[in-house]
Amino acid sequence: MAFVAELSRSVQGRVVLITGAASGIGRATAHVFAREGARVAVTDRAQEDADRVAGEIRAEGGEAVGWALDVADGQAIETVAAAVAERFGGLDILVNNAGTTRVLKIDDGRYDAAWDFLLPILLGSHQRMIRAALPHLRRSEAPRIVNIASTEALGASSPGSIYSAAKAGVTGLTRSLAVELGREGITVNCICPGPIHTGMTAAIPDDNKTIYARRRTALGRYGDPAEVAHAILNFCLPASSYVTGVTLRVDGGLMVRNA
Ligand code: NAD
Repeated sequence: MAFVAELSRSVQGRVVLITGAASGIGRATAHVFAREGARVAVTDRAQEDADRVAGEIRAEGGEAVGWALDVADGQAIETVAAAVAERFGGLDILVNNAGTTRVLKIDDGRYDAAWDFLLPILLGSHQRMIRAALPHLRRSEAPRIVNIASTEALGASSPGSIYSAAKAGVTGLTRSLAVELGREGITVNCICPGPIHTGMTAAIPDDNKTIYARRRTALGRYGDPAEVAHAILNFCLPASSYVTGVTLRVDGGLMVRNA
């Protein structure tokens, strides 16, 4: 009888760097990883916001340090990735999560400016973060990259073409780098969240959220950031070593519901 390999489902002691970790999905991911014993680099634009979440984690008994990191700043990406690896003695997991949006029609006079603002944050930062993290990931026993895209990469809401284009780029980058880095044992996966209760959707009135979610999702509700965080964690388990190049919807069934 062939021996069945025992694969670890623990991220205990692993070092994870999360961008945009002061709010929503990023914050939930920081907490979920810390509760699993990972050592967490909480990064976001403002030092005080990153420190606040790192402080929450430490108050729960977890290990976390906050860094200011604007992902539109290529130099800061290199500096912070190096600082995180030095502080924790390595880097095992990168979660490219930071994001924001602008809603403009294609013929809006501010379209070009919004494109130039959003693309470096939503797409450029992913490749820059990955390049900065790569030397450290290459020294990890179970190197993992998870990129956060959106169901807007797969379908579209109007107007939202800049966001959709960037997020579709994230899915393409994920597939391509999964192939390029696969021989090194580095997995690269992507999550497409559907409607989630976070800062990004906070301005939508609750009634509108409820109507939309009941009409459009199979589960009939918005998702909780922790539900996305757990999907990210699954990709990062040592046992997920044969899972790469995947685009996983965490959308309550939004993309499969026809009526
Ligand atoms: P959020 O607003 O709660 O959190 C986003 C975080 O990203 C914030 O902490 C913000 O400060 C940070 N951020 C924004 N610009 C940054 C920059 N230039 N540098 C560093 N950090 C920056 O929203 P969220 O929903 O948790 O967003 C997380 C990710 O999930 C984003 O990539 C977003 O596009 C994606 N997403 C969200 C939803 C949703 O319904 N909430 C759906 C699909 C995809």
